[in-house]
Amino acid sequence: MGFFKKNKKETQQVQWKIKKRCLDLILESAKSTYPNEFGALLRVDEQHKDTIVELVLLPGTISGDSHAIFRLHMMPVDFSIVGTIHSHPGPSARPSDADLMLFRKHGRIHIIAAEPFTFESWKAYDYNGNNVDVLIV
Ligand code: ZN
Repeated sequence: MGFFKKNKKETQQVQWKIKKRCLDLILESAKSTYPNEFGALLRVDEQHKDTIVELVLLPGTISGDSHAIFRLHMMPVDFSIVGTIHSHPGPSARPSDADLMLFRKHGRIHIIAAEPFTFESWKAYDYNGNNVDVLIV
């Protein structure tokens, strides 16, 4: 029995959460950067490592080039950073092939905010590009 319990626990997924003010900031930043892409890293709370509380902006993140916004060699060594967020200047929040490559390499949770950058127009993905539910707290 202990064996099965252990297996069940291992397959349990993290219930990701994001602070509403952090999501607000993402959507506002995406709007103000439009028609360029906005990109940043996601940081979790030190106590609650499943709760995204803050954005970390990378130097030189303003760029019209798709996905050149992530200069990940400049990524700080910081274990509270769990993933990325970027905006799509279009109505689709689906990850592109380039997005999926980025997801696989860096982090465990990735948010894409699409036009019109509202609470209904963003999605979160795991490192494999599968949809992930994120609670707004
Ligand atoms: Zn993208």
